[in-house]
Amino acid sequence: MTAVGVIGLGGMGSRIARRLIDAGHEVVVWNRSPQRAAPLVDLGADAAATPAKVASRVEILITMVADLRALRSVTEGPDGIAADARASLTVVEMSTVGPAGIAWLAAALPAGLSLLDAPVLGSIGEADAGSLRIFVGGPDSLVERVQPVLSELGSVSHVGALGSGAACKLVANATLFATLASLGEALALARALGLSDEVAYEVLAATTLAAQADRRRDAIAAGDYPPRFPLALARKDADLVRDAAATAHVDLRVANAARAWLADAERAGSGERDYTAVLGTILGGTGHAKATPQIDAPTVGYDGVIVDLDGVVWLSGRPIDGAVEAIAALRAAGTRMLFLTNDPQSSRADQAGRLTAVGIPATESDVLTSAAALARSLASQERFAGGGALVVGSAALAEEIRQAGLHVLASPMALQAEVVVVGGHEGFSYADLRAATAAVGNGAALYATGRDAVFPTSDGLRPATGAILAAIEVASGVTATVVGKPEPLVFDIARESLAGCERIAVVGDHLDADIAGAKRAGLDAFLVLTGATSRDELEWAPVQPDQVLASLAEFAAGQRVS
Ligand code: NAP
Repeated sequence: MTAVGVIGLGGMGSRIARRLIDAGHEVVVWNRSPQRAAPLVDLGADAAATPAKVASRVEILITMVADLRALRSVTEGPDGIAADARASLTVVEMSTVGPAGIAWLAAALPAGLSLLDAPVLGSIGEADAGSLRIFVGGPDSLVERVQPVLSELGSVSHVGALGSGAACKLVANATLFATLASLGEALALARALGLSDEVAYEVLAATTLAAQADRRRDAIAAGDYPPRFPLALARKDADLVRDAAATAHVDLRVANAARAWLADAERAGSGERDYTAVLGTILGGTGHAKATPQIDAPTVGYDGVIVDLDGVVWLSGRPIDGAVEAIAALRAAGTRMLFLTNDPQSSRADQAGRLTAVGIPATESDVLTSAAALARSLASQERFAGGGALVVGSAALAEEIRQAGLHVLASPMALQAEVVVVGGHEGFSYADLRAATAAVGNGAALYATGRDAVFPTSDGLRPATGAILAAIEVASGVTATVVGKPEPLVFDIARESLAGCERIAVVGDHLDADIAGAKRAGLDAFLVLTGATSRDELEWAPVQPDQVLASLAEFAAGQRVS
């Protein structure tokens, strides 16, 4: 029998642990709320004090927690799995966190540690019965190693490389939510057109929704949806579908509309009910409400805030009403602030100087630019240590690269470059394009501070980093690694700058850069309406913020510090 750890003992994890105990495995468990471990200890499990202690005692470690934030909290820090993961350990991630969550986990665990993603289809009934459908991603040898344990929980499908299981789960859930929303809307239409439910169900029986209609009919009639899969988690899954599609540039209008229904139901107070309670929202007369988020009451309790500059703190260099006071109030309450900008042309010192000049005292360390983030990313990779970099960008970008310990090369030395670094600047020339193309053709890595095509100025739009990068990518045939927003990497670097903070929020005005990036990095995202985004644009935006606020001042007010 195998020593198996189970971290996360909610509806699904507790049942998984119980089946493994029943099968005779040696089971070690941990849950954030320790009382949930007690019934399993009664059945023979051992309760460990921390996730790290579970990792140190078992061969196979299953994580089954709510979402990426929960996964981060059981993985990181001195008590997290990563702190005590030995080389012989295999981690099997079974929560629904999407391919981006799996990529994050792979990077957070010690290099070379065995990891599989194995999310499940089926709910608590199937978990009880051992009839879950498990989609596993990872190498053959590892899948073979865990097969006997996973087979106790259901049928195992090996669907591809690491991350493929998470991708399969999103595909399955996208159909689930769309089908449910279609059913609710079909019934709402039938009722609005004066048909009886009996007739409506007769019609539906002749359509592809027949099985769903039959399955949900009693619950709809009773308005009682037996709890199996919390609606808040379904909304989280719909967010994962939306974010994965946005990253992959797939237009999912139906899935996004189904997500809007789930979000409405959650706002209406059904977050802890079963996800099928969304039918009640669709049928309950709120059915024609728009999906646009309302200006919500802000969440309190962040000890770190990553703040965008343009459109949040200032506009065309002028402070936005209340922003200076809001930052002062947040700081006075002990909240740490990091100013994060995708502008690769100005140095951190310049930005800090501008902040200080408008009444927000700041030093270089309070600012993270996409140029600084790119430099830090290169500095963390041994292959670039002391190497040569061809910089196609501003003097500020070149200085960051120098400070990261690389040699900045002149164009004639391009063939000696280990890396080509691209950032928007006004001096881009054909000679730069030729040198960068030659360097990349010679094997240099290609990095860029962003992909924004243009940036706004008072004289209209100007070409940005993405426009320059496109030329180099087309000429070299190589796709760059991008570090600036919305890439999760820049948020990870920002998070490191706020080390010690337990709850970090992102406040920004750009849906694509700030909000999509924050969500991909597993952070809470607050959209303020003082910059690039209007309320109208929100309705069908593929990535939605956690909350929409009028301004940074309202964020500070919500923290009860102003
Ligand atoms: P659940 O009953 O809500 O349990 C969530 C678990 O996550 C609990 O153990 C909870 O700990 C833990 N958790 C939440 N936030 C945490 C944090 N910040 N730090 C540490 N632990 C945290 O959810 P579930 O139904 O078991 O679902 C688990 C996963 O399976 C989710 O990803 C869900 O989407 C997926 N899933 C669920 C179903 C279903 O039908 N239920 C089906 C397929 C997949 P506490 O006990 O302390 O709150």
